[in-house]
Amino acid sequence: MKFQDLPALDDKLAMMDELARRFAERASAADEENRFVYENIEDLKQSGYTSLTVPAEYGGQDISLYEMVRLQEKIAEGDGSTSLSIGWHMGIMKNLAEKKMWEEGLFAHICGEVLNGALLNGASTERQTGSPTRGGKPQTTAKLEGGEWIISGRKTFTTMSPVLDYFIVSAAIADSDDKAGFLVPRKVAGLHIEETWDSIAMRGSGSHDLVLDKVRIPKHYLVERFDKGSRRANGWLLHIPACYMGIAQAAQSYAVSFAKSYSPNSIEGSIIDLPNVQQKIGEMELELMSVRTFLYEVARRWDESSDDERERLSPALGAVKLKVTNTAIHVVDLAMRVVGARSLSAANPLQRYYRDVRAGLHNPPMDDTTIQLLARHASDRHDG
Ligand SMILES: Cc1cc2nc3c(=O)[nH]c(=O)nc-3n(C[C@H](O)[C@H](O)[C@H](O)COP(=O)(O)OP(=O)(O)OC[C@H]3O[C@@H](n4cnc5c(N)ncnc54)[C@H](O)[C@@H]3O)c2cc1C
Repeated sequence: MKFQDLPALDDKLAMMDELARRFAERASAADEENRFVYENIEDLKQSGYTSLTVPAEYGGQDISLYEMVRLQEKIAEGDGSTSLSIGWHMGIMKNLAEKKMWEEGLFAHICGEVLNGALLNGASTERQTGSPTRGGKPQTTAKLEGGEWIISGRKTFTTMSPVLDYFIVSAAIADSDDKAGFLVPRKVAGLHIEETWDSIAMRGSGSHDLVLDKVRIPKHYLVERFDKGSRRANGWLLHIPACYMGIAQAAQSYAVSFAKSYSPNSIEGSIIDLPNVQQKIGEMELELMSVRTFLYEVARRWDESSDDERERLSPALGAVKLKVTNTAIHVVDLAMRVVGARSLSAANPLQRYYRDVRAGLHNPPMDDTTIQLLARHASDRHDG
């Protein structure tokens, strides 16, 4: 059975739930060994999931942003690293399909590759720039020579690097002030992955360094120019809050199940009936319910909007990412308080959720940028 055989979202979610249970069984060992979760990505490929955001005209399913968010959240209930990893690929394909930024022939070729299992992600971060959302100039350079681009540099945080087939690399164009994105296939001379990922969060995401040493790619693999003021609303980035939502849900589920079964001999029955525990479980439920509603609502609005209307959704997209990720951190904290000191045991999944969920703060857009955007938004609305 493949996702392609299941038109209804509920059926897709049920199938993803089964996969997520498998991912949950592998998560602890992968985290302990700081090992990329190859098996999970392979399962997702075999299930047909990785081509669901390819447009229907190129043989894909063209799933909506709402569907993508729901499925990504479900993956994260099993394993956050897997959700964040495959989320970049799913979201990028969705974004390319919606914005039609690439030359048609090249996009059609990549869609064909993705139908055959190829995976892609953006490699935009560098040590010298920090988050690319801050506007720093990449130290990675691209020089046109003999009809080919020659690219050199080093990218950090290249999530899913162990299995990527294509990297979308940002680079400064030599002898100019221009920046652009380049499609770099994995199988080119001069490209290698340096296994630098030593983070305590999202250890299974393989977010290593990508090193490019005079890599040569065809001229038309310059896929996007980053002009000043060319930033556009990015609905696809909702895969990020979906991921942290899923981790928070997993934490709450664990805490509830623990509270139902833990029966210290100071009380009759289990701690689930104690007012102090119910207070925390109820608070978690309230938090999850409110951010989930916010997340789904913004995803649906994106799906129902025209291109012009989507550009006006940036404040809501930023707000939902900020709210979900910060709430997810709070929910994991509450779950740990319910479970008590056992939550700090290396064998307990909550300590992994605690580390993983913090990564959300350092995925785009950053909180301070969002707050500034919201302040401008509020102020613009009251102009005059
Ligand atoms: C798990 C994970 C996976 C990731 N996957 C990818 C990926 O696949 N591809 C990719 O390209 N990137 C990826 N990233 C990188 C991510 O998008 C950020 O680029 C990275 O986390 C660095 O962000 P930062 O805010 O920590 O760094 P910095 O931008 O260096 O910021 C560090 C501190 O300095 C402050 N600061 C720096 N510059 C400014 C400024 N101009 N204005 C105001 N404050 C500033 C920040 O507020 C912050 O406090 C990933 C990150 C994580 C954590």
